[in-house]
Amino acid sequence: QWSITDFEIGKPLGKGKFGRVYLAREIKSKYIVALKVIFKEQIEKYRLHHQLRREMEIQTSLRHPNVLRLHGWFHDAERIFFILEYAHGGELYKELRKSGHLSERQAATYIASLTQALAYCHEKHVIHRDIKPENLLLDHEGRLKIADFGWSVQSKSKRHTMCGTLDYLAPEMVENKAHDYAVDNWTLGVLCYEFLYGAPPFEAESQKDTFRRSNTNESTKRKKAAASNNLDKSKQ
Ligand code: ADP
Ligand code: MG
Ligand code: MG
Repeated sequence: QWSITDFEIGKPLGKGKFGRVYLAREIKSKYIVALKVIFKEQIEKYRLHHQLRREMEIQTSLRHPNVLRLHGWFHDAERIFFILEYAHGGELYKELRKSGHLSERQAATYIASLTQALAYCHEKHVIHRDIKPENLLLDHEGRLKIADFGWSVQSKSKRHTMCGTLDYLAPEMVENKAHDYAVDNWTLGVLCYEFLYGAPPFEAESQKDTFRRSNTNESTKRKKAAASNNLDKSKQ
């Protein structure tokens, strides 16, 4: 029922891989929102229909103070628009880079909010699978909001698609094994470290190093070496 003519478009708020996000105001109600714009051409090109539908359906169904609301969506000939709750404070990533690291109190508050949001999602069998500081937003009161459900999935059984972002990948994901909601819980530990120290624990020069460092378990060392080898070969 919505169309782009219902909105006044303001400043750009951010950019992701496929989305550009703008501040916007619904003209009649004067309600401030964030509009995420995705070009259909990109969706076609990278065959993302399935993923986009999940993002829409899953995020619309979630209602939690620490989960960014998706109010609705609409489309025109070239673009798809998500009407999102506006997060005035922007990315937690920026705050972290600006101040180097966070105080223990601040880190604890964010981790508590994130834990509550994840517990809520997991109760509904939703796994986010891309928790990282770029996808954690802050509202005008500094409250944490989980955003970007582009990799999320709603399922009771184990999943097999390797996805997410290297520094935050759980070992089972790195090894391309079946995974479940526990991959989100892994990021709680990584983020707790990053909030207090300023950089994620398994950050390394190369992908291969991060793979190695995110898993120290003896029993998986051989597989790891094989994975690194394969990565090396694929680069040559
Ligand atoms: P992508 O799926 O392409 O990564 P995101 O949904 O993560 O797109 O949005 C990209 C960036 O835009 C975010 O990292 C953030 O900086 C900004 N952004 C997204 N949604 C909002 C919002 N509701 N309020 C403020 N900024 C936002
Ligand atoms: Mg993102
Ligand atoms: Mg996304």
